[in-house]
Parts: sequence; C-alpha cells; structure tokens
Amino acid sequence: MEVTGRLQLEAWRRRTLPPVERVRPGLWSLPVPMTGNPLRYVLCYAFESGPGVTLVDPGWPFDGGGESLTAGLATIGARPEDVTGVLVTHAHLDHHGLASWVREKSGCWVAMHEAEQEALRRQANTETSAARTRRWRDAAGIPPDADADAPPSGASGTMTPTGLTDLEADFFLGHGDDARIPGRDVRALWTPGHTPGHLCFVSPDDAVILTGDHLLPRITPNISGYAYDTLDPLGDYLDSLTVLPEHDAYEALPGHEYRFRGIAARTATVRAHHDRRLAEIHNQVAGTPGVTAWEIASQVTWSRDWAEYSGFLLTSAVGETLSHLDHLEARGAIRRQGRSPVRWFAAAPQHERTGPARLPEGMITWR
Ligand SMILES: [Zn+2]
Repeated sequence: MEVTGRLQLEAWRRRTLPPVERVRPGLWSLPVPMTGNPLRYVLCYAFESGPGVTLVDPGWPFDGGGESLTAGLATIGARPEDVTGVLVTHAHLDHHGLASWVREKSGCWVAMHEAEQEALRRQANTETSAARTRRWRDAAGIPPDADADAPPSGASGTMTPTGLTDLEADFFLGHGDDARIPGRDVRALWTPGHTPGHLCFVSPDDAVILTGDHLLPRITPNISGYAYDTLDPLGDYLDSLTVLPEHDAYEALPGHEYRFRGIAARTATVRAHHDRRLAEIHNQVAGTPGVTAWEIASQVTWSRDWAEYSGFLLTSAVGETLSHLDHLEARGAIRRQGRSPVRWFAAAPQHERTGPARLPEGMITWR
C-alpha cells in the first residue's frame, strides 16, 4: 500500500487538519473536523458539475462543521447554495450529518442506499431503539454497571440526536447505479458490512474510488452496528471486500485519514485481521464452553488496554466481538444457547454434522 495523500498523512501525524486538495480536475477533498473524536476529521469530496457542485458525504454536523464545509467550498470558489446533489456513503453522523443543512441552503437532492434510509428510520424511533439496546446488552452479557453506550451505529438512536435522523433521501442508489453527477460517469458500489447500505463510488475516468468507511488505510471499520438487523454483518463485509480489488489500479479516496493506492493489498491486510480475530475468538469459545460475548471481548487482543475501554469504544468492542461470533456461527464453527445472555459453544465435531462444515480460513482449532 502506498500513501498518495502525503499532505493528509503529514497533517495526521501533526494532528492538524489537512488542506483542501484538488484530487483530480474538478474533484476536491474537503476536510471537516471532528473535534475530540479519534477520527479527527471526515473527508468530504466535491465534484464540480457544470455550474454546481455534487458532494459525497458533507460531513460531521458539530464543532462548526457547517462553517468548515463552507470555508472548504469557498476555497474552490463555491458556496453551500451551489450544491446540486449530496451522495451519502452511509448514514453515520460524520458522513451524512450535514446533508440536511446543505439541502436547506441549496435545495439539492440527497441520495443513499435504501438500507441506510431504513436504518435512519429505526434510529428515529427512540422507543424501539431503547428496547433494542436493552436486548442487545442482555444478549451480549454486558454487566448492568459496565460503562457501555447503546450499540454502535445503526442499532440505536442515542448516537443520533433528533433532527439528524429525519433525513429523507430523494432517491435510492443500488449496486452499479449511476450517481447522477452531471458530465461524469460515477457509479455506486454496494459494500455492506460497516452498515447495511454502505456505498462506495467509482469514477473510472478519474481512476478513483471513494471508499467511505469501507476501506481505510490505517484502521479497520467497526463491524457490529447492525448485529440485530442482519444475521451476519461480518459475512457481508468479507463478501464486500471482493468488490474493490477489481479496481486495484485506482487511487482510494477514503472518508477518513489519507488517500492511498494498493486497494488489493489493503483489502488482504484487513481480511487477514478478521481471520486472525475469528481464529482467536473460536479458540476462546472452544476453550471456555458457555462463554458470553462480554467475557470474550474482555479477553481478546485489542489495540489498547481493555481497562481503557468505556462508553462508545467499549460498546464497539463488544459489537465487533459479536459480529465475529455471528460469523463463526454462520460458518457452522460455533453455536449459541440461551438469550440473555447468549452463551457460546464450539459446534459438534465435523463427522457428526449433516452438512459440510465451512471453516474460516486460517482456522486452526476445530475439535
Ligand atoms: Zn466515518
């Protein structure tokens, strides 16, 4: 993998905001700050389209996000009023958060995948969200006194203040659909996993892919947010990882961090990360029959000390563990018992099974 966003990498190291940059003729990256968040900023992309501008992920609505976006647009000679369309990679606040604000200023259209619209509607329903949160915590075996937030992303409303979930798309985009940027052939690529309706956008003429949160150069996106909306979000994600390497020669324009080349190599690294974690979690289940997601999460290897995890981070870690458990179950390697909490067991040995067992690649412990 080669970092092509040199100025962005420098800014990342210096903990400053990267500059507005022209990535291709008529295609710009505009950083929008996320103060106090470890992600630091989100990268909004602006396509000049005739007299107007089409934005991909207008960005984070807090910390003066609107002013930052306005300043970024001014750098390229545009105003929020000039925006004719907003494409949303996924309905997380750091990406879609400013969409309503931009639409109010400009009357532009907003487009996303239909599954993201459904996620927004679920989040807007705080009653179901609260019940979902309770079920989620009970199932994972999170102790009542643990300092964990509601489940991350799509599964709860607490992360998304009212007024930001009532965004209604003007039209939906599916895999391969034209993103309707005037004068450009930009298409949506459906890459579920981080969220159920996550979209990347590919522009063959520019030889770029806007990867949203699906593929980032440094971190792996959290896979857990809709653990109770679909059965196997990690399975979706691993399947989605096959989509981008077809365009390995293209430059990746991510939603955070910095631009890079080497999509196939980065994809392989991310896949290897999940394979290792699947093997680690499978070993834990095999070695501790009846273990809960909470107990596993406190044992697996994280990027920082487990005691440092609280709030949203803690919940994300438990969610990430759950998505690996769900995936191991979908592959027939483990099984669940009970509901609150769900307890996990290694599946029966292969010769007793009726169907062929599908083991995660790199899985070493089986019987
Ligand atoms: Zn993001």
